Amino acid sequence: MRIVVSGAAGFVGSHMCDRLLAEGHSVVALDNFLTGASANLTHLAGHPAFRFVAQDITAPFTVEGAVDCVVNMASPASPKDYLEYPIETLDAGSLGTRRMLELALQKNARFLITSTSECYGDPLVHPQVETYWGNVNPVGPRSCYDESKRFAEALTMAYHRKHGVRTNIARIFNTYGPRMKLNDGRVVPAFLDQALRGEPMTVFGSGSQTRSFCYVSDLVDGLYRLMLSEERYPVNLGNPCEMTILEFAEHIRRMTGTKSEIVFQALPEDDPKQRQPDIAKARSVLGWEPRVPLDEGLRQTVAYFRGLPGTVA
Ligand code: UDP
Repeated sequence: MRIVVSGAAGFVGSHMCDRLLAEGHSVVALDNFLTGASANLTHLAGHPAFRFVAQDITAPFTVEGAVDCVVNMASPASPKDYLEYPIETLDAGSLGTRRMLELALQKNARFLITSTSECYGDPLVHPQVETYWGNVNPVGPRSCYDESKRFAEALTMAYHRKHGVRTNIARIFNTYGPRMKLNDGRVVPAFLDQALRGEPMTVFGSGSQTRSFCYVSDLVDGLYRLMLSEERYPVNLGNPCEMTILEFAEHIRRMTGTKSEIVFQALPEDDPKQRQPDIAKARSVLGWEPRVPLDEGLRQTVAYFRGLPGTVA
């Protein structure tokens, strides 16, 4: 297939490009580098099946030639990034998604969008099942991301219902791995960076809030299977192995052997108290489940961070 990927220079987007190329597809990669990094794609320069186009998907654009599949991954995704770029985030989910759906419609291509567990907001149902409609603050600081993705899901379903576009919706839970930005504020790079430097590890709130961390290769495998499936409704992709953030900090302390102390800082507004994907649907519809254990994934991530310029060896 010839596949257009937006957000291709992002953390997950670049791994998706790698997987699509490894499967023998050709990739037209789009990114405007708002939060992505060209370094995530340098290893693909010169690949015969890979083409990069610097493109903001909220502006008009065309893609020459046949397109079989459109993968729409462009959006700021870490709380720090979407708080800094709230309007761009809303535009990516609305205007950007509309343009990507139009591209799929014009080219008679299939369409996959990467949505988020943030659609569930601060969930009152636990673990989160796809049929749960969520508990989202529509005017809080995180609303730019939550509502952008909820709108993007609604738009995707509208193009499916009205125009018959063959759409897929992935709801991605917390994912980590190489090519995360060290300074994007998310808990995995933050704790690993602090631990490797021997600096205090900043737990927000009491650390009793929970998250469930999925390694990026597992996630991308789920995305690829979903892209080939006929499932039109959202599918959760994540690792159900849930822990509190304080447990996670202690785990990283042990794993890295750091002398870093744990310090407590203010909990950001509307920070979800618990998050764990129910992946029964992904298991039955896609035959998918995560395989990489947390320690193995963290080792790969540490190795990547150690290799970055300016990080502690
Ligand atoms: N967090 C933390 N210390 C940090 C960064 C994050 O305690 O330095 C917490 C954050 O408050 C949240 C969890 O870790 O409860 C996951 O945060 P992240 O930004 O990675 O993603 P989120 O799941 O909130 O989108």
